[in-house]
Formats: sequence, C-alpha cells, structure tokens
Amino acid sequence: MTIGIDDLPIRDELRGKSPYGAPQLDVPVRLNTNENPYPLPEPLVERIAERVREAARGLNRYPDRDAVELRTELAAYLTRTTGYEVGAANVWAANGSNEVLQQLLQTFAGPGRLAIGFEPSYSMHGLISRGTGTGWISGPRHEDFTIDVAAAAAAIAEHRPDVVFITSPNNPTGTAVDAETVLALYEAAQAAKPSLVVVDEAYVEFSHRPSLLPLIEGRPHLVVSRTMSKAFGAAGLRLGYLAAHPAVVDAVQLVRLPYHLSAVTQATALAALEHTDTLLGYVEQLKTERDRLVTELRALGYEVTDSDANFVQFGRFDGEGGAHAVWREILDRGVLVRDNGVPGRLRVTAGTPEENDAFLDAVRALKKEQS
Ligand code: PMP
Repeated sequence: MTIGIDDLPIRDELRGKSPYGAPQLDVPVRLNTNENPYPLPEPLVERIAERVREAARGLNRYPDRDAVELRTELAAYLTRTTGYEVGAANVWAANGSNEVLQQLLQTFAGPGRLAIGFEPSYSMHGLISRGTGTGWISGPRHEDFTIDVAAAAAAIAEHRPDVVFITSPNNPTGTAVDAETVLALYEAAQAAKPSLVVVDEAYVEFSHRPSLLPLIEGRPHLVVSRTMSKAFGAAGLRLGYLAAHPAVVDAVQLVRLPYHLSAVTQATALAALEHTDTLLGYVEQLKTERDRLVTELRALGYEVTDSDANFVQFGRFDGEGGAHAVWREILDRGVLVRDNGVPGRLRVTAGTPEENDAFLDAVRALKKEQS
C-alpha cells in the first residue's frame, strides 16, 4: 500500500494543497525567480571564506542569539541608503525575509486571526498565513495592478484584519507603491483594529522611488521587511530583516527559535555588507537592463507594467492556451520565464545583458511567427 500525504493525520487546512516553488529546470537562460544574475565578486568570496573560517573556530558554542553585530551593520546600511536613522534596536534578522514574515505572523496573527494582501502579489504572504493558522483575505487591485485605495480601505474596514501586507515594489507586477497609499491603508488599519501593517520591500533597491522606511517614524504598527536575496545577490545565504519600532523587535523574540541565525550565516552576511558598494553597483546595471527590457518589450507591442523591480510583467496573451502556452514557447527557445498565474501575463527577471538579449530574441521570433 502506498501512503500519501492525505493518508497522514495532517492539519485539515493543508489537505490537498501543494508546496510553493517555481520549476527549477535545467535550461540555458533562467529568468524566472528574480535572482541576481551576478555571482558574488571574488574579493567578497575570499572575505566570506575568511570570516566563516573565524566563525568555524567557535562553532562548538551557540551563535550570538541576538545577532547584535549583524543588526548594527544592517541598521547602518539602512541609515546610509535611506537617510533615515535606525539602530540595532529597530532591526531584526532571520533566515530570509520569508522567516521574518513568518515570525511576524506568529506574533501578530495565528489561529482565529486574519491577514490581508492585495492580489496579485507575493503568493507566500497567503501561504505563510495559512502555515501559521492565520485566515487569509485576498484584497482587490485596479485593472492596471495599482492598489485601489478606496476598495482596499473598505476591505480592511469590513474584515478588520490583524496584519495588512503591502508589497512595494509589488511582485509579480513590478510597480512601487507611493507613500500616500501606505499612509491611507495604515490609517484604515488603525481605525479598524488596530493592526500591524507590513511593507514588503524585498525589491526596493531596484526602485525609481525612495524606500518607505521613514514612514515608521511615529507609527509603531508599521514594519518594513527587506532581504539580502535580491540587491545583495545572496539568495543562497538566506538573510532577511525588518526595521520597525523597537517594541516590534522585542515582540518577535516571543516566537523566534533560540539561535535561529547560525554563526556561519551571520559571518557571511557581515562579509557581504562590507562589500555593499560593489553589490549596489550591480544593482545599477540591473536597473538599466530592466529599463531596457521595458522599452524593448513595449516597442515590440507588448503591454508592459511599469517596473521598479528586477523583473518585468508583460502580456497580454489572451489567445488559445493563454499565458501558459506562450511560457512554453519561450521555454522551447531555451529561456525560462515565470507564469505566476496572472491571466494573460508573464514575468521575466532582468538578467545579464546577454541573457536579456536571448530572451528578447526569443520573444521577437515568437512575434514574427505570429504575424
Ligand atoms: N518578498 C517578496 C515580495 C519576494 O518576492 C520574495 C522572494 N521571491 C521574498 C519576500 C522572500 O525572499 P527571501 O526569503 O529570499 O528573503
């Protein structure tokens, strides 16, 4: 007898569900998971080896549970790049921003409580909610994928969620959210509950707009979440962090596992932060490439959503088979993009100039075939 998941006594709400994950296919050009295409520069690889060697000498001991040195350096990075001063007391770090979001939901939501996001957006917000036993409300957007402030505020007033997610720049659509929208939703959330508002800034370093971080001033229920997976080119490191009022940082201590951030992770992240300027140089190149993708896709006649991220949403593919059929045709030409399930649209990550050329050649060939 074969035993499957559903034969096990798992939680009812997990029955029949599939795990999150983009296909990891072995194709020449992979532009599907918003990774940074540039490997870490060699001097940084050397520095990581040095710092990890040092950390290895103390691996018989548990790591710094509060990751104070790392939080201090992350705070310095935020202060330097946003002009808004934060310190270690405002910053908390975990294994990827997914873990940061999970800790926030464990602290502020959970069974009997609700979270809301405005979809299409980062699907893990809903999935981590489910994983923490939190009810999920899918809020609305305008046709052009910007947040419909009136409808969003009405949904918050109706459902009175405990956590509100705002993703800026949004994934998979790409556009950043303005401060007025965040403030309006914060006010709506405070009037309804009050609830915690989480601004997910995973892609903010690629944005045309400044970070929303300064909005935490005087707003203890506002949290900004960040990651080293994108701008720092360190998706394999698993390092995410948040900035908020120190009381929020104290609150997540109630749910974090002791010593959750390994000494190796802390040492590696600290080495990467020493090379911030080089890594932000790659971000500038990727922004130029992202803008080129937008321009060229528009020139080819595609409908392209404004992008502040390291990826671009394009369409429309309303013909037979919809976006998925086009995804397959692009894949047949050796380029993997992402079908996020947004009707008629696909998402392509900005890669190296050569990778982007390969992608543009593939869609050009497609266009030619269709005409
Ligand atoms: N937020 C958003 C909007 C994302 O797109 C991602 C990664 N795809 C994450 C958070 C999680 O990133 P990580 O856990 O690697 O920090």
